[in-house]
Amino acid sequence: MEREHLIKPVLDHPYPTVQYGKGVFLYDDQGKAYLDGASGAVTAGIGHGVPEIIEAMTEQASKVSFVYRSQFTSEPAEKLAKKLSDLEPGGDYWAFFVNSGSEATETAMKIAIQHWQEKGRFGKNKVISRRMSYHGITMGALSMSGHVLRRRRFIPLLEDFPVVAPPYCYRCPFKLNAASCKLACADDLETAIKRIGAEHIAAFIAEPIVGAAGGAIVPPEGYYKRIKEICDRHEILFIADEVMTGIARTGEMFGMQHDGVEPDLIALGKGLSAGYTPMAATLVKDHVMAPILQGSKSIMAGHTYSANPQSAAVSLAVLDYIEKHQLAQAAQSRGVYLMAKLRQLADGIEIIGDVRGRGLLLGIEFVRNRDDKEMFPPAAGITARIIDKAFHKGLLVYPAAGAVDGAGDAIIVAPPLVITEAEIDLLVLLLEEAVREVMDELA
Ligand code: PLP
Repeated sequence: MEREHLIKPVLDHPYPTVQYGKGVFLYDDQGKAYLDGASGAVTAGIGHGVPEIIEAMTEQASKVSFVYRSQFTSEPAEKLAKKLSDLEPGGDYWAFFVNSGSEATETAMKIAIQHWQEKGRFGKNKVISRRMSYHGITMGALSMSGHVLRRRRFIPLLEDFPVVAPPYCYRCPFKLNAASCKLACADDLETAIKRIGAEHIAAFIAEPIVGAAGGAIVPPEGYYKRIKEICDRHEILFIADEVMTGIARTGEMFGMQHDGVEPDLIALGKGLSAGYTPMAATLVKDHVMAPILQGSKSIMAGHTYSANPQSAAVSLAVLDYIEKHQLAQAAQSRGVYLMAKLRQLADGIEIIGDVRGRGLLLGIEFVRNRDDKEMFPPAAGITARIIDKAFHKGLLVYPAAGAVDGAGDAIIVAPPLVITEAEIDLLVLLLEEAVREVMDELA
Protein backbone atom coordinates (compact mmCIF):
# COMPACT_ATOMS: atom_id res chain seq x y z
CA MET A 1 0.00 0.00 0.00
CA GLU A 2 1.19 3.50 -0.81
CA ARG A 3 2.22 5.54 2.23
CA GLU A 4 -0.07 8.39 3.31
CA HIS A 5 0.83 12.07 3.67
CA LEU A 6 -2.34 13.80 4.83
CA ILE A 7 -2.86 13.95 8.62
CA LYS A 8 -6.52 13.09 9.13
CA PRO A 9 -8.43 13.30 12.43
CA VAL A 10 -8.02 9.59 13.22
CA LEU A 11 -4.92 8.32 11.46
CA ASP A 12 -5.98 4.72 10.89
CA HIS A 13 -9.59 5.49 9.95
CA PRO A 14 -10.62 4.95 6.32
CA TYR A 15 -12.30 8.21 5.25
CA PRO A 16 -14.28 8.22 1.99
CA THR A 17 -13.23 10.79 -0.61
CA VAL A 18 -15.84 13.45 -1.23
CA GLN A 19 -16.66 14.19 -4.85
CA TYR A 20 -19.26 16.95 -4.72
CA GLY A 21 -22.11 18.42 -2.70
CA LYS A 22 -25.60 19.55 -3.66
CA GLY A 23 -28.17 20.98 -1.26
CA VAL A 24 -28.20 18.91 1.93
CA PHE A 25 -26.30 15.99 0.38
CA LEU A 26 -22.63 15.13 -0.09
CA TYR A 27 -21.50 12.43 -2.54
CA ASP A 28 -18.34 10.34 -2.36
CA ASP A 29 -16.29 9.02 -5.27
CA GLN A 30 -18.20 5.73 -5.14
CA GLY A 31 -21.45 7.58 -5.78
CA LYS A 32 -22.73 7.09 -2.23
CA ALA A 33 -24.96 9.92 -0.90
CA TYR A 34 -24.69 11.32 2.64
CA LEU A 35 -27.39 13.49 4.19
CA ASP A 36 -25.44 16.30 5.87
CA GLY A 37 -27.37 16.18 9.14
CA ALA A 38 -25.02 18.53 11.02
CA SER A 39 -23.88 20.83 8.17
CA GLY A 40 -20.42 19.33 8.62
CA ALA A 41 -19.45 20.91 11.92
CA VAL A 42 -22.60 23.11 12.05
CA THR A 43 -21.13 25.16 9.22
CA ALA A 44 -22.73 24.57 5.80
CA GLY A 45 -25.80 26.59 6.76
CA ILE A 46 -27.15 27.19 3.24
CA GLY A 47 -26.27 23.76 1.87
CA HIS A 48 -23.72 22.75 -0.73
CA GLY A 49 -23.14 23.89 -4.30
CA VAL A 50 -25.25 27.06 -4.21
CA PRO A 51 -24.71 28.76 -7.61
CA GLU A 52 -25.11 32.33 -6.24
CA ILE A 53 -22.15 31.82 -3.89
CA ILE A 54 -19.98 30.31 -6.58
CA GLU A 55 -20.81 33.30 -8.83
CA ALA A 56 -19.91 35.79 -6.08
CA MET A 57 -16.67 33.91 -5.45
CA THR A 58 -15.74 33.88 -9.14
CA GLU A 59 -16.66 37.53 -9.63
CA GLN A 60 -14.49 38.66 -6.71
CA ALA A 61 -11.62 36.38 -7.79
CA SER A 62 -11.70 38.00 -11.22
CA LYS A 63 -11.06 41.40 -9.53
CA VAL A 64 -8.75 40.62 -6.61
CA SER A 65 -8.70 37.77 -4.09
CA PHE A 66 -6.15 38.98 -1.60
CA VAL A 67 -4.87 42.26 -0.22
CA TYR A 68 -2.97 42.72 2.99
CA ARG A 69 -5.05 44.61 5.54
CA SER A 70 -2.13 46.81 6.55
CA GLN A 71 -1.97 48.10 2.95
CA PHE A 72 -5.54 48.18 1.62
CA THR A 73 -9.14 48.01 2.69
CA SER A 74 -11.67 46.54 0.25
CA GLU A 75 -15.29 47.11 -0.67
CA PRO A 76 -16.46 43.61 0.36
CA ALA A 77 -14.78 43.84 3.79
CA GLU A 78 -16.22 47.33 4.43
CA LYS A 79 -19.69 46.24 3.31
CA LEU A 80 -19.60 43.06 5.39
CA ALA A 81 -18.61 44.95 8.55
CA LYS A 82 -21.55 47.34 8.09
CA LYS A 83 -23.95 44.54 7.21
CA LEU A 84 -23.13 42.58 10.37
CA SER A 85 -23.64 45.65 12.53
CA ASP A 86 -26.98 46.34 10.82
CA LEU A 87 -28.11 42.75 11.37
CA GLU A 88 -27.60 42.93 15.13
CA PRO A 89 -30.69 44.64 16.59
CA GLY A 90 -28.53 46.71 18.97
CA GLY A 91 -26.31 47.85 16.07
CA ASP A 92 -23.18 49.90 16.68
CA TYR A 93 -20.66 47.12 16.22
CA TRP A 94 -17.24 47.24 14.61
CA ALA A 95 -15.97 44.07 12.91
CA PHE A 96 -12.52 42.50 13.00
CA PHE A 97 -12.23 39.69 10.44
CA VAL A 98 -10.24 36.51 11.03
CA ASN A 99 -10.23 33.00 9.59
CA SER A 100 -11.65 30.65 12.21
CA GLY A 101 -13.88 30.57 15.24
CA SER A 102 -10.86 29.99 17.49
CA GLU A 103 -9.27 33.19 16.21
CA ALA A 104 -12.56 35.05 16.65
CA THR A 105 -12.88 34.15 20.35
CA GLU A 106 -9.18 34.63 21.03
CA THR A 107 -9.31 38.06 19.36
CA ALA A 108 -12.37 38.92 21.46
CA MET A 109 -10.35 38.06 24.56
CA LYS A 110 -7.45 40.24 23.42
CA ILE A 111 -9.69 43.18 22.56
CA ALA A 112 -11.42 42.93 25.93
CA ILE A 113 -8.05 43.00 27.72
CA GLN A 114 -6.84 45.86 25.51
CA HIS A 115 -10.03 47.82 26.27
CA TRP A 116 -9.17 47.85 29.96
CA GLN A 117 -5.47 48.54 29.35
CA GLU A 118 -6.36 51.63 27.30
CA LYS A 119 -8.36 52.79 30.31
CA GLY A 120 -5.30 52.29 32.50
CA ARG A 121 -6.75 49.23 34.23
CA PHE A 122 -3.90 46.82 33.61
CA GLY A 123 -4.98 44.30 36.24
CA LYS A 124 -8.15 43.34 34.37
CA ASN A 125 -6.80 40.48 32.26
CA LYS A 126 -8.53 37.25 33.23
CA VAL A 127 -11.45 35.80 31.29
CA ILE A 128 -14.06 33.71 33.08
CA SER A 129 -15.70 30.91 31.13
CA ARG A 130 -17.89 27.94 32.02
CA ARG A 131 -17.30 24.27 32.55
CA MET A 132 -18.72 22.42 29.52
CA SER A 133 -17.82 25.06 26.96
CA TYR A 134 -15.84 25.15 23.76
CA HIS A 135 -14.34 28.33 22.35
CA GLY A 136 -11.64 26.96 20.08
CA ILE A 137 -8.50 24.92 19.69
CA THR A 138 -5.70 27.53 19.72
CA MET A 139 -4.00 27.99 23.11
CA GLY A 140 -5.79 31.20 24.09
CA ALA A 141 -9.19 29.92 23.00
CA LEU A 142 -8.55 26.54 24.63
CA SER A 143 -7.56 28.31 27.85
CA MET A 144 -11.08 29.75 27.90
CA SER A 145 -12.71 26.41 27.09
CA GLY A 146 -14.13 23.88 29.50
CA HIS A 147 -13.91 20.99 27.03
CA VAL A 148 -12.16 18.30 29.07
CA LEU A 149 -11.16 16.01 26.20
CA ARG A 150 -9.73 18.78 23.98
CA ARG A 151 -7.77 20.40 26.85
CA ARG A 152 -6.32 17.31 28.46
CA ARG A 153 -3.00 17.07 26.58
CA PHE A 154 -2.13 20.74 26.95
CA ILE A 155 -3.20 21.60 30.48
CA PRO A 156 0.30 22.65 31.68
CA LEU A 157 0.53 25.14 28.80
CA LEU A 158 -2.91 26.67 29.21
CA GLU A 159 -3.70 29.88 31.02
CA ASP A 160 -5.41 29.00 34.29
CA PHE A 161 -8.60 31.00 33.72
CA PRO A 162 -11.47 30.60 36.20
CA VAL A 163 -14.62 28.65 35.29
CA VAL A 164 -18.18 28.75 36.57
CA ALA A 165 -21.07 26.27 36.47
CA PRO A 166 -22.79 25.52 33.17
CA PRO A 167 -26.54 26.21 32.78
CA TYR A 168 -27.22 22.52 32.27
CA CYS A 169 -30.76 21.92 33.50
CA TYR A 170 -30.88 18.24 32.53
CA ARG A 171 -28.08 17.59 35.04
CA CYS A 172 -28.26 20.71 37.16
CA PRO A 173 -24.85 21.28 38.82
CA PHE A 174 -26.74 22.48 41.91
CA LYS A 175 -29.28 19.61 41.82
CA LEU A 176 -32.08 22.17 41.50
CA ASN A 177 -35.23 22.29 39.42
CA ALA A 178 -35.43 24.79 36.52
CA ALA A 179 -38.87 25.98 37.67
CA SER A 180 -37.67 27.00 41.13
CA CYS A 181 -33.88 27.31 40.92
CA LYS A 182 -33.77 31.14 40.86
CA LEU A 183 -30.91 30.84 38.32
CA ALA A 184 -28.25 29.61 40.72
CA CYS A 185 -26.03 28.88 37.68
CA ALA A 186 -26.05 32.55 36.66
CA ASP A 187 -25.37 33.63 40.24
CA ASP A 188 -22.34 31.33 40.25
CA LEU A 189 -20.68 33.98 38.06
CA GLU A 190 -21.20 36.60 40.75
CA THR A 191 -19.76 34.26 43.40
CA ALA A 192 -16.66 33.73 41.22
CA ILE A 193 -16.27 37.47 40.58
CA LYS A 194 -16.40 38.18 44.31
CA ARG A 195 -13.84 35.44 44.99
CA ILE A 196 -11.38 36.57 42.29
CA GLY A 197 -12.02 40.30 42.41
CA ALA A 198 -13.57 42.23 39.51
CA GLU A 199 -10.37 44.27 39.27
CA HIS A 200 -8.69 41.15 37.80
CA ILE A 201 -11.40 40.21 35.31
CA ALA A 202 -11.67 41.57 31.76
CA ALA A 203 -14.56 39.49 30.44
CA PHE A 204 -16.92 36.57 30.73
CA ILE A 205 -17.35 34.36 27.65
CA ALA A 206 -20.23 31.99 26.92
CA GLU A 207 -21.98 30.25 24.05
CA PRO A 208 -25.68 31.24 23.83
CA ILE A 209 -26.37 27.51 23.41
CA VAL A 210 -23.62 25.09 24.46
CA GLY A 211 -22.50 23.23 21.32
CA ALA A 212 -19.65 20.73 21.05
CA ALA A 213 -19.15 20.59 24.82
CA GLY A 214 -22.66 19.48 25.65
CA GLY A 215 -24.93 18.98 22.65
CA ALA A 216 -27.19 22.00 22.18
CA ILE A 217 -27.79 22.89 25.81
CA VAL A 218 -30.20 25.84 26.11
CA PRO A 219 -29.90 27.85 29.35
CA PRO A 220 -33.01 28.48 31.44
CA GLU A 221 -35.22 31.50 30.78
CA GLY A 222 -33.72 34.73 32.11
CA TYR A 223 -30.19 33.30 32.44
CA TYR A 224 -28.46 35.70 30.05
CA LYS A 225 -30.33 38.77 31.30
CA ARG A 226 -28.99 37.95 34.78
CA ILE A 227 -25.50 37.27 33.41
CA LYS A 228 -25.40 40.60 31.57
CA GLU A 229 -26.66 42.44 34.63
CA ILE A 230 -23.92 40.84 36.79
CA CYS A 231 -21.25 41.65 34.17
CA ASP A 232 -22.37 45.28 33.86
CA ARG A 233 -22.52 45.77 37.64
CA HIS A 234 -18.94 44.52 38.04
CA GLU A 235 -17.55 46.25 34.92
CA ILE A 236 -16.85 43.00 33.12
CA LEU A 237 -17.33 42.69 29.35
CA PHE A 238 -19.66 40.00 28.07
CA ILE A 239 -18.38 38.03 25.05
CA ALA A 240 -21.03 35.94 23.27
CA ASP A 241 -19.40 33.09 21.40
CA GLU A 242 -21.84 32.83 18.50
CA VAL A 243 -19.49 30.78 16.34
CA MET A 244 -22.02 27.94 16.30
CA THR A 245 -25.27 29.78 17.08
CA GLY A 246 -24.77 32.84 14.88
CA ILE A 247 -26.08 33.57 11.37
CA ALA A 248 -29.66 32.28 11.47
CA ARG A 249 -28.92 28.83 12.95
CA THR A 250 -31.26 29.19 15.95
CA GLY A 251 -34.09 31.00 14.15
CA GLU A 252 -32.67 34.51 14.66
CA MET A 253 -29.56 35.99 13.05
CA PHE A 254 -27.82 35.88 16.45
CA GLY A 255 -28.53 33.32 19.16
CA MET A 256 -28.46 36.00 21.86
CA GLN A 257 -31.49 37.74 20.29
CA HIS A 258 -33.74 35.09 21.88
CA ASP A 259 -32.58 36.38 25.25
CA GLY A 260 -32.85 40.08 24.41
CA VAL A 261 -29.22 40.67 25.39
CA GLU A 262 -26.69 42.78 23.48
CA PRO A 263 -23.22 41.40 24.09
CA ASP A 264 -20.20 43.72 24.30
CA LEU A 265 -18.31 41.46 21.91
CA ILE A 266 -19.53 38.70 19.59
CA ALA A 267 -17.48 35.93 17.99
CA LEU A 268 -18.75 34.59 14.67
CA GLY A 269 -17.47 31.85 12.34
CA LYS A 270 -18.86 28.69 10.76
CA GLY A 271 -22.18 29.89 9.23
CA LEU A 272 -20.73 33.31 8.37
CA SER A 273 -19.32 31.91 5.16
CA ALA A 274 -21.39 28.70 5.36
CA GLY A 275 -18.18 26.78 4.73
CA TYR A 276 -17.54 28.23 1.26
CA THR A 277 -14.29 29.82 2.41
CA PRO A 278 -12.59 30.29 5.80
CA MET A 279 -14.10 33.36 7.44
CA ALA A 280 -14.81 34.48 11.00
CA ALA A 281 -15.29 37.75 12.82
CA THR A 282 -15.10 39.47 16.17
CA LEU A 283 -17.79 42.12 16.54
CA VAL A 284 -16.99 44.86 19.04
CA LYS A 285 -19.50 47.34 20.42
CA ASP A 286 -18.81 51.07 20.11
CA HIS A 287 -18.27 51.57 23.83
CA VAL A 288 -15.60 48.83 23.88
CA MET A 289 -13.79 50.43 20.95
CA ALA A 290 -14.04 53.97 22.35
CA PRO A 291 -10.93 53.93 24.61
CA ILE A 292 -8.93 52.22 21.85
CA LEU A 293 -9.97 54.89 19.34
CA GLN A 294 -8.93 57.57 21.80
CA GLY A 295 -5.79 55.68 22.81
CA SER A 296 -3.46 53.50 20.74
CA LYS A 297 -5.84 53.43 17.73
CA SER A 298 -4.80 49.91 16.81
CA ILE A 299 -5.98 46.44 17.80
CA MET A 300 -2.99 44.26 18.56
CA ALA A 301 -4.22 41.20 16.63
CA GLY A 302 -4.60 40.08 13.04
CA HIS A 303 -3.58 37.40 10.60
CA THR A 304 -2.24 37.51 7.06
CA TYR A 305 -5.62 36.46 5.63
CA SER A 306 -7.71 38.74 7.89
CA ALA A 307 -10.40 40.64 5.98
CA ASN A 308 -9.37 39.24 2.61
CA PRO A 309 -11.82 40.44 -0.07
CA GLN A 310 -12.45 36.93 -1.40
CA SER A 311 -13.85 35.60 1.87
CA ALA A 312 -15.70 38.85 2.57
CA ALA A 313 -17.44 38.70 -0.83
CA VAL A 314 -18.48 35.10 -0.14
CA SER A 315 -19.86 36.00 3.29
CA LEU A 316 -21.84 38.90 1.82
CA ALA A 317 -23.34 36.54 -0.75
CA VAL A 318 -24.18 34.03 2.01
CA LEU A 319 -25.94 36.73 4.06
CA ASP A 320 -27.88 37.88 0.98
CA TYR A 321 -28.92 34.30 0.30
CA ILE A 322 -30.08 33.85 3.91
CA GLU A 323 -32.16 37.02 3.75
CA LYS A 324 -33.59 36.35 0.28
CA HIS A 325 -34.68 32.83 1.22
CA GLN A 326 -35.73 33.82 4.77
CA LEU A 327 -33.56 31.11 6.28
CA ALA A 328 -33.78 32.42 9.86
CA GLN A 329 -37.54 31.85 9.67
CA ALA A 330 -36.90 28.47 8.00
CA ALA A 331 -34.55 27.47 10.85
CA GLN A 332 -37.33 28.32 13.28
CA SER A 333 -40.16 26.44 11.55
CA ARG A 334 -38.13 23.44 10.39
CA GLY A 335 -36.51 23.33 13.80
CA VAL A 336 -39.94 22.93 15.38
CA TYR A 337 -40.70 20.13 12.92
CA LEU A 338 -37.39 18.34 13.53
CA MET A 339 -37.66 18.74 17.30
CA ALA A 340 -41.17 17.20 17.27
CA LYS A 341 -39.89 14.27 15.20
CA LEU A 342 -36.92 13.69 17.51
CA ARG A 343 -39.12 13.85 20.60
CA GLN A 344 -41.43 11.29 18.97
CA LEU A 345 -38.38 9.13 18.35
CA ALA A 346 -37.29 9.49 21.97
CA ASP A 347 -40.64 8.08 23.14
CA GLY A 348 -39.78 4.69 21.68
CA ILE A 349 -36.04 4.56 22.37
CA GLU A 350 -35.13 4.31 26.02
CA ILE A 351 -31.46 5.28 25.62
CA ILE A 352 -32.52 8.77 24.52
CA GLY A 353 -32.43 10.76 27.75
CA ASP A 354 -32.97 14.28 26.46
CA VAL A 355 -33.81 16.10 23.23
CA ARG A 356 -33.06 19.83 23.31
CA GLY A 357 -31.95 22.86 21.37
CA ARG A 358 -33.39 25.76 19.42
CA GLY A 359 -34.05 26.36 15.75
CA LEU A 360 -31.95 23.93 13.73
CA LEU A 361 -29.36 23.44 16.45
CA LEU A 362 -30.66 20.37 18.24
CA GLY A 363 -29.00 17.88 20.57
CA ILE A 364 -29.76 14.38 21.77
CA GLU A 365 -28.25 13.02 24.98
CA PHE A 366 -28.00 9.25 25.41
CA VAL A 367 -28.23 7.52 28.78
CA ARG A 368 -28.05 3.96 30.08
CA ASN A 369 -31.05 4.54 32.29
CA ARG A 370 -33.61 7.21 31.55
CA ASP A 371 -35.06 7.26 35.07
CA ASP A 372 -31.86 8.10 36.94
CA LYS A 373 -30.01 9.55 33.89
CA GLU A 374 -27.13 7.13 34.42
CA MET A 375 -24.42 7.69 31.85
CA PHE A 376 -22.78 4.98 29.77
CA PRO A 377 -19.14 4.34 30.69
CA PRO A 378 -16.90 6.34 28.30
CA ALA A 379 -15.23 3.06 27.20
CA ALA A 380 -18.54 1.91 25.69
CA GLY A 381 -18.05 4.64 23.05
CA ILE A 382 -21.79 5.03 22.51
CA THR A 383 -21.60 8.38 20.69
CA ALA A 384 -18.91 7.14 18.31
CA ARG A 385 -20.87 3.96 17.61
CA ILE A 386 -24.07 5.83 16.82
CA ILE A 387 -22.20 8.27 14.58
CA ASP A 388 -20.45 5.40 12.82
CA LYS A 389 -23.67 3.48 12.18
CA ALA A 390 -25.36 6.63 10.90
CA PHE A 391 -22.38 7.34 8.64
CA HIS A 392 -22.62 3.92 7.04
CA LYS A 393 -26.30 4.50 6.38
CA GLY A 394 -25.49 7.81 4.73
CA LEU A 395 -26.28 10.23 7.56
CA LEU A 396 -23.79 12.69 9.07
CA VAL A 397 -24.26 13.90 12.66
CA TYR A 398 -21.86 15.69 15.01
CA PRO A 399 -20.40 14.34 18.29
CA ALA A 400 -20.73 16.11 21.64
CA ALA A 401 -19.49 13.32 23.88
CA GLY A 402 -17.40 13.54 27.04
CA ALA A 403 -18.97 16.79 28.18
CA VAL A 404 -19.32 15.87 31.85
CA ASP A 405 -15.74 15.54 33.08
CA GLY A 406 -14.91 13.35 30.10
CA ALA A 407 -18.09 11.26 30.31
CA GLY A 408 -21.54 11.54 28.75
CA ASP A 409 -22.91 10.81 25.28
CA ALA A 410 -24.59 13.31 23.01
CA ILE A 411 -24.87 14.25 19.35
CA ILE A 412 -25.79 17.44 17.54
CA VAL A 413 -28.32 17.40 14.72
CA ALA A 414 -28.05 20.66 12.76
CA PRO A 415 -28.76 20.22 9.05
CA PRO A 416 -28.47 23.06 6.52
CA LEU A 417 -31.26 25.59 7.01
CA VAL A 418 -32.58 24.80 3.51
CA ILE A 419 -33.58 21.25 4.49
CA THR A 420 -37.12 20.23 3.48
CA GLU A 421 -39.61 18.34 5.64
CA ALA A 422 -39.19 15.24 3.45
CA GLU A 423 -35.42 15.41 3.98
CA ILE A 424 -35.98 15.79 7.74
CA ASP A 425 -38.15 12.65 7.64
CA LEU A 426 -35.29 10.78 5.96
CA LEU A 427 -32.78 12.14 8.50
CA VAL A 428 -34.88 10.93 11.43
CA LEU A 429 -35.48 7.55 9.81
CA LEU A 430 -31.75 6.94 9.29
CA LEU A 431 -30.94 8.17 12.79
CA GLU A 432 -33.57 5.88 14.30
CA GLU A 433 -32.07 2.87 12.48
CA ALA A 434 -28.57 3.77 13.69
CA VAL A 435 -29.60 4.27 17.33
CA ARG A 436 -31.72 1.10 17.36
CA GLU A 437 -28.82 -0.97 16.02
CA VAL A 438 -26.54 0.29 18.81
CA MET A 439 -29.30 -0.35 21.33
CA ASP A 440 -29.72 -3.91 20.04
CA GLU A 441 -25.98 -4.49 20.44
CA LEU A 442 -26.28 -3.42 24.09
CA ALA A 443 -29.18 -5.77 24.83
N1 PLP B 1 -16.59 28.50 19.38
C1 PLP B 1 -17.58 27.60 19.25
C2 PLP B 1 -18.86 27.81 20.00
C3 PLP B 1 -17.42 26.49 18.42
O1 PLP B 1 -18.40 25.60 18.31
C4 PLP B 1 -16.20 26.33 17.71
C5 PLP B 1 -15.98 25.16 16.84
O2 PLP B 1 -16.60 24.15 16.95
C6 PLP B 1 -15.19 27.30 17.89
C7 PLP B 1 -15.41 28.37 18.72
C8 PLP B 1 -13.89 27.17 17.15
O3 PLP B 1 -14.08 27.42 15.80
P1 PLP B 1 -13.03 26.88 14.72
O4 PLP B 1 -13.11 25.40 14.72
O5 PLP B 1 -13.51 27.50 13.43
O6 PLP B 1 -11.69 27.39 15.11
